[in-house]
Amino acid sequence: KSSEWIAVENKYYAQTVRRQPVVLVRGEGTRVWDADGKEYLDFVAGWAVDNLGHCHPAVTQAIVEQASTLVQTSNQFYTVPQLLLAQLLVDNSCLDRVFFGNSGAEANEGALKLARRYGKLHRDGAYEIITAFSSFHGRTLATLAATGQPHYQAGFTPLLPGFVHVDYNDVEAIMSATNDLTAAVMLEPVQGEGGVNIPDDDYLKRVRAWCDQQGLLLILDEVQTGMGRLGSLFGYQEYGVEPDVMTLAKGLGYGVPIGAFLSKEYCMALVPGDHGSTFGGNALTTAASYAGTKFLIENDIPAHAGAMGRHLLAQLNELKNRFSFVSDVRGKGLLAAVEFEGDISGRVLSHANQAGVLLNGVKPNAVRLMPPLTITREEIDEGVGRI
Ligand code: PMP
Repeated sequence: KSSEWIAVENKYYAQTVRRQPVVLVRGEGTRVWDADGKEYLDFVAGWAVDNLGHCHPAVTQAIVEQASTLVQTSNQFYTVPQLLLAQLLVDNSCLDRVFFGNSGAEANEGALKLARRYGKLHRDGAYEIITAFSSFHGRTLATLAATGQPHYQAGFTPLLPGFVHVDYNDVEAIMSATNDLTAAVMLEPVQGEGGVNIPDDDYLKRVRAWCDQQGLLLILDEVQTGMGRLGSLFGYQEYGVEPDVMTLAKGLGYGVPIGAFLSKEYCMALVPGDHGSTFGGNALTTAASYAGTKFLIENDIPAHAGAMGRHLLAQLNELKNRFSFVSDVRGKGLLAAVEFEGDISGRVLSHANQAGVLLNGVKPNAVRLMPPLTITREEIDEGVGRI
């Protein structure tokens, strides 16, 4: 029973996560079931991870086959799934080289180390990285310092030095913050955890031009926006720019833990011995990711996500027209938020749980929707109906 498992959590688990009272035991496509047999439409999708839905056959088959073939080796040896995935990502992106880790935070750590190394080698020791307020880059000590949200940081000072925060969607603020110590600018194409904040169409283009003029690296954190979420394989394609460095995680794994940073050849400043990871890019996770990514690309799931995203936004806007306490609806692709007049997301979430639709309370006054990219029009209608 769900209530019994919740009691076990209360007794044994570190109480670091504010959980919803839902114990999930099974998933298929856009739907999940709890320990009491209740069914939900999943608009959280493992935090924008299950881009092909739960237990997609292509991914499941790859996991099963690889699990009985070869799971983990030392990274001093080559393994084939890792190389197939590296090739697939590079062939389908503007980047030239990839390194695999295990999470979004670890991917960003690698990108930040790369930027520092690049600054040492090519920019006279510059090490500062400009990031945005309301950003989210992870919870390790370096990525926490990069994250522009003081409430995540307050309990863990002193923070790693070398990060400068500026307002998002404000190119002039980046220009004013740039100095001889600046090595890179790191941004999300759309801010996810910060509340689904969508920049002006020309923001990234203007940041790109400034970075080119100043010789700064542009790092795009595509941990949440990458792998089709915004309607293109990578978010940068929606904005007509190319990053020098890009990070991925979440959707890259279709459920298995994997992260990556990718870099253009000219700025891949890390050399043998500079970076590594015991589990990073092991045969099991890369086999799952390769199978999922191949399916995603071959079936143009990002385009489907774009079309379904437009439908979802239209449906959510109807809610806004009907209910006066809905103050804003925004989104791009299948990353959307509904904002309320008051701080009611907690109540909205518990009613949504009862109605059988899982949502994320991204802010006290806003909920976020990030369903699997394979969601159908009918499932969107059913989900919004339940909301
Ligand atoms: N970057 C972004 C943009 C994210 O949304 C997140 C996770 N929400 C992270 C980094 C951190 O990823 P992880 O939790 O896998 O470390």
